[in-house]
Amino acid sequence: MVRLNEIRAGEVAVEAPTAADAGLVFVGRIRTPWTDRLACPRQGRSDGPTCRIEVFAPWREALDGVALYARLEVLYWLHLSRRDLVRQSPASDGVARGTFSLRSPVRPNPIGTSIATLVRAEPGLLHVRGLDCLDGTPLLDIKPDRSLFTPLAPPQPGDAQAGDPPR
Ligand code: SAM
Repeated sequence: MVRLNEIRAGEVAVEAPTAADAGLVFVGRIRTPWTDRLACPRQGRSDGPTCRIEVFAPWREALDGVALYARLEVLYWLHLSRRDLVRQSPASDGVARGTFSLRSPVRPNPIGTSIATLVRAEPGLLHVRGLDCLDGTPLLDIKPDRSLFTPLAPPQPGDAQAGDPPR
């Protein structure tokens, strides 16, 4: 079950190092129907409710071309998450797994990602389905779904590099 901030049997918290500033900026805000973490979907559904992604100035122009893609990868900052668990017990049954083997919102850098279906684009605003975050969750980034995206830049050598380089 999704958590608030409790520690469960079998879980391990560490003393997290002081955050170094990676220079992230919140480029917008996500508006959803959910105000309670325990009522949010654990993963967004493509037939879920329509949510709004509001992009702040000066980033609105960065939405140019987004409407070419039916699906978008949305990255957001799960701002209410604790960040210090290295082992977690999703079933709350004392059986704990490493954080990096889970899609839990509790992680050292609480970045959530979803593949969202684009419903409609307006200036500075996207209407999408497929999100699973609280109303007001900060937006980090938007990218075309990689399966729909063909690179526009000229090819470079690493693109065709398969396997390990010879020793
Ligand atoms: N789809 C994303 C992923 O896989 O990276 C997030 C999955 S995470 C399991 C979704 C859960 O995070 C929700 O059910 C809710 O309990 C919690 N959550 C949503 N918004 C949050 C926020 N702003 N801060 C902390 N937790 C949040």
